[in-house]
Amino acid sequence: MTTRRKFLKSSLLSSTLLMPGAVKKAAGIFSEKKQSAGEHKPLIVSTWNHGIAANKRAWEILQKTGSILDAVEEGVKVTEADPSSRTVGLYGFPDREGIVTLDASIMKGDGECGSVCFVRQIKHPITLARKVMEKTPHVMLAGEGARQFAISEGMPLEEEVLHPESQKAYEEWLEEAEYRPIINIENHDTIGMVGLDADGNLAGTCTTSGLSYKMHGRVGDSPIIGAGLYVDNEVGAATATGMGETIIKVCGSFLVVELMRQGRSPQEACEEAIARLIDKNLEDIEDMQAGFIAINKDGEYGGYAVHPGFNFAVHHEGGNEMEDAKSRFGND
Ligand code: ASP
Repeated sequence: MTTRRKFLKSSLLSSTLLMPGAVKKAAGIFSEKKQSAGEHKPLIVSTWNHGIAANKRAWEILQKTGSILDAVEEGVKVTEADPSSRTVGLYGFPDREGIVTLDASIMKGDGECGSVCFVRQIKHPITLARKVMEKTPHVMLAGEGARQFAISEGMPLEEEVLHPESQKAYEEWLEEAEYRPIINIENHDTIGMVGLDADGNLAGTCTTSGLSYKMHGRVGDSPIIGAGLYVDNEVGAATATGMGETIIKVCGSFLVVELMRQGRSPQEACEEAIARLIDKNLEDIEDMQAGFIAINKDGEYGGYAVHPGFNFAVHHEGGNEMEDAKSRFGND
């Protein structure tokens, strides 16, 4: 039985592989299901206001190259290179020692993934994460090893100088040197992006300078596959933002994808994952924000957070717009 099924599957595959695209379309192989309201293909969703510019770039790349992986990489590179961002890339706030260290991850729907963490002087950690995925037998490189790998790949090292605004903020912070993360202000604004192409392929990226004034060596959820990002072509994709420690404890993005696998919509999955996260982090809940966004392979999306203030950018054929996420607390 299994053998016969396998044979049928492989002969169907090889015969469809031989068909030219137009014939496949005519045969309905690309468009077996009509999209209903709330379903969008292609679809790109990313966290926070910086998502608008990132989505715009990702959309252009998708139109140009047809690659959802290229799209989600190039999209978040806009934020990594943005001198006004204090939370992503080298212009971000530093750690307690005054050093900016970056975390990033990338994942394809077939399970291939790569990430870097605690990396210095690299303008585009997301590109380095992609190189880890494509050019090494590993998933994750950290710190000095990641930097050495970047050098061997010909990536330039940037000078370690804080952006003047980061420098000023750091000096102010040093006066008290108190480590107290605050929700929803400019120190929890990772960019996570998930995308779906017209053929149902998914990919995602997540990149951040992490919590400001974190301990030197601290790594958040963003570069951890399953915590800050998870993608599975059979189901959907999810990414996270907010207090990384709370997200890591529940394997947040993996949890969202697994809930969708069990039949939840992206919105329901994000809500249930936030409920779990709250449950596992009860003592910190008042002072911390966390949020998820998710898409499924049908092109539906959702987003949800612990506290109000989280928003995300959604790009589909109809436009590129911000949406406010609902939250577990703070609603009337
Ligand atoms: N999740 C990030 C981290 O914990 C922070 C953020 O989303 O801004 O490093």
